[in-house]
Amino acid sequence: MKVNLFSSARRTSYRQEMIIGVAGDEVTLNITASQRRTMRLQVTEEGSVDLRIPLNSSRNEVLRFVKLHEPWLHERLEQVRERLQKRGDALLLYGKERPYVASALGEFLVTDEQVWVPEGWTDAQREKAVEQWLRQEARHEFSYWINHWWPDFSAFAPQQPVLRVKKMKTRWGSLSRKGYINLNLHLLALPHELVELVVVHELCHLRHFDHGPGFRRLLAECLPDWQQREKELHRRGQLLL
Ligand SMILES: [Zn+2]
Repeated sequence: MKVNLFSSARRTSYRQEMIIGVAGDEVTLNITASQRRTMRLQVTEEGSVDLRIPLNSSRNEVLRFVKLHEPWLHERLEQVRERLQKRGDALLLYGKERPYVASALGEFLVTDEQVWVPEGWTDAQREKAVEQWLRQEARHEFSYWINHWWPDFSAFAPQQPVLRVKKMKTRWGSLSRKGYINLNLHLLALPHELVELVVVHELCHLRHFDHGPGFRRLLAECLPDWQQREKELHRRGQLLL
């Protein structure tokens, strides 16, 4: 990518975008250079990152300044993200946002395009209904993938593991030796092929308890593109977990 960033000495001000990494996330910096003496970093209410710099700043000076403030920036972005998620204008389902729409008919209904919410409901009412719906949907979706893949794994266990849907903060799923497969309710925010990846990953643990070469070979036999999916899971997961 070739841009004439920080190259013009004659202009009195200019704007420029720059992409940087913050704690593994790609973040776009909106840079405004003008006649000023100091740099100033700011995160707006909507989560965009503005950086004001003196006209003669070099690229290295900018990077150094941002690096110095990276912990602050990371924390601030997390706060904004949480607040935006709570405000929740839309339900993120299978990788697609479905906006909440007031229903004059008074029904709660999740469709492919939107989520109908009875007019006059409080946020708490809506949240409760959404969670109830999600739990039901999760059982449906997760069971589908477990049943779909079970023939490939039935030789490794006396019986099909029992599904438990959980809200977890740090992991997508786990497999207990007592015969349970625990899957995170938040998986429903991800596209189906990533839900499938997590289910197959956990089923592979029926055969291999670690993530060693045997585990990876089995996973690759089932899902030849598992590495691509895993990358995508990490990319999206950072926004969700
Ligand atoms: Zn694992």
